[in-house]
Amino acid sequence: MNKLSETAITNIKGIGEETANSLYAMGIESVEDLLMHFPYRYEDYQLQDISEAKHEERITVEGKVHGEPSLMYYGKKKSRLTFRVYVGQFLVKAVCFNRPFYKNKLSINDTITLTGKWDQNRQMITVLEIHFGSFTKENEIEPVYSVKGSITVKQMRKFISLALKGYGEQVESVLPSTLLERYKLPSKKESLIALHTPVNQTMLKHARRYFVYEEFLLFQLKMQALRKYKREHSKGISHNYSEEELNRFVARLPFPLTGAQNRVLKEIVGDLTSPYRMNRLLQGDVGSGKTVVAAISLYASYLSGFQGALMVPTEILAEQHAQSLTTLFAETPLKIDLLTSSVKGKKRRELLSNLAEGKIDILVGTHALIQEEVNFSSLGLVITDEQHRFGVAQRRVLREKGESPDVLFMTATPIPRTLAITAFGEMDVSVIDEMPAGRKAIETYWAKHQMIDRVLGFVEKELQKGRQAYIICPLIEESEKLDFQNAIDVHTMLTDYYQGKWKIGLMHGRLHSEEKEKIMLDFSENQVQVLVSTTVVEVGVNVPNATMMVIYDAERFGLSQLHQLRGRVGRGSEQSYCILLADPKSEVGKERMKIMTETTDGFVLSEKDLELRGPGDFFGKKQSGVPEFKVADMVHDYRALEVARQDAYEMLHSTSFWKEPQYEGLRMMIEESGVLDGEKLD
Ligand code: ADP
Ligand code: MG
Repeated sequence: MNKLSETAITNIKGIGEETANSLYAMGIESVEDLLMHFPYRYEDYQLQDISEAKHEERITVEGKVHGEPSLMYYGKKKSRLTFRVYVGQFLVKAVCFNRPFYKNKLSINDTITLTGKWDQNRQMITVLEIHFGSFTKENEIEPVYSVKGSITVKQMRKFISLALKGYGEQVESVLPSTLLERYKLPSKKESLIALHTPVNQTMLKHARRYFVYEEFLLFQLKMQALRKYKREHSKGISHNYSEEELNRFVARLPFPLTGAQNRVLKEIVGDLTSPYRMNRLLQGDVGSGKTVVAAISLYASYLSGFQGALMVPTEILAEQHAQSLTTLFAETPLKIDLLTSSVKGKKRRELLSNLAEGKIDILVGTHALIQEEVNFSSLGLVITDEQHRFGVAQRRVLREKGESPDVLFMTATPIPRTLAITAFGEMDVSVIDEMPAGRKAIETYWAKHQMIDRVLGFVEKELQKGRQAYIICPLIEESEKLDFQNAIDVHTMLTDYYQGKWKIGLMHGRLHSEEKEKIMLDFSENQVQVLVSTTVVEVGVNVPNATMMVIYDAERFGLSQLHQLRGRVGRGSEQSYCILLADPKSEVGKERMKIMTETTDGFVLSEKDLELRGPGDFFGKKQSGVPEFKVADMVHDYRALEVARQDAYEMLHSTSFWKEPQYEGLRMMIEESGVLDGEKLD
């Protein structure tokens, strides 16, 4: 559609300067833009079978008036006209507001066509339009466009229809005919026409199918071409070490690796030893054993003579990781150190100089790792945990502390496959989809807030068995704006409730890091039995004796976050429990609570989360990285996405794609996007 993208919209009859300006404001500058301005919905005036109409659906039906209409006035100018209509063999009620004049026009046995909202329960249509007699609109399915300024939907329809008439022939195919045939897709031109002036729902469906596939395919081609290019052009470190020695380390671990751990390790090690730079995402549910995989990878890098860095989002987590690495590496000469903002003064200076001299093999830390003064002598492997918590820029700074070190991103937030292959399409993905043996699934219950007494009784039973409990609240303290439970009040309430029988701790993000550390230490040593906390305990905290979690106002958290929180229990060998306190008002809210009680599979939950909240909300607003598609919907058109991804892969790796004329349109798209000239390499 090259030429059309350079044809000004003022070439269309009826688009003068003023109208053009309104169109420009909507981002429509060329005839191509106009043609690609798709309807966001359709008005369907096709007659419908009323027995198949859904509740609240907008329908158009033809019928015969039955009985006298009745008119009622209320208020000053308000009226309600009610009458009965036979539609096929169904007798339905029709109501029509504020159009009293219809009363005299309706007589028994007249044929009329009604368009309106269908109330399934009351078998009633709330009438929007009445047409006397049989009737079908010229275009039974009318496109509805978004418009701005002085432009009306009607005008927009006219402009687009003129554009189709005048320029439709020039619409060039992008997809080669082999693909159109394979998937029985209409051509681009036909699809455009059908999308703007659909004759029936079937054609509309196929037109949509065309654009969904085209959008996904182009996106996947660009993304995968970028990934391929990056891989082939980013020289990285070929880690070179004794495999035997690495195996010895693995054999000394207190447990055998799971099949999934072994598999992802193979993928990672393959990257480490290859001359390309690793750019890999490691996904695995909470407790699936990512840390061990990270440790083995770091060990491989160490054996090759390089340093490693492990960056995590919070100090607590940094400390825990440093601790578990120290334990894992206890019998090796490997030196681990910890850098957070709490490391200050002389200690910090010493650490930094040791690091620069290569006396530290692995540095674990928070954002402190990416400060300018932090210099490695030979950084070979960078790992970030809970990678979604860091921005792109932060991850890049860390990577640049070495000479193209290998990079591994870990996340316990299972990312639905659809998102993984769109938002993270430029990364390789490894998944640990198996839990270490012997884990008991956490039993989850949903309770209303009014049941709090019973819930606390349940908590006490666990405490009496010598276990510990987390109580999670959305807020730190009382808020005027939000009606949610807060940690400070709950802490006071529980201290009072348990009358000194148990020690109740309080933890939230506003405490100083020493205070946080103290309370976490007390909890992990069972000096404190009940920890009231905000979501700061969300990531990584490991206290195996804690078997109980109560989450206040659970409906205000996303499924993935609830799953993360819940992962704080169930870390020991005892049965663990999670109670969600929630009074959700919406159906979706109730559905979410129910799903939480039904599965502990993070991937299932994340798919559900995506379905219920949509892709935009999934990662939070900040850096979703989720592309916007015009027609395609990642959740509902998921199968097409998979197909397009596979096709893109096969094309890019075939020689014919780079040679044959039928692929020229697609090649141009890739080239124009600039992924091949290295500009987009970050
Ligand atoms: P993640 O970081 O994925 O949440 P961790 O690496 O912290 O999980 O592992 C959770 C717990 O499981 C740790 O106590 C760890 O020692 C243990 N673990 C890891 N891998 C295995 C395994 N293959 N078999 C038994 N226990 C394991
Ligand atoms: Mg972890």
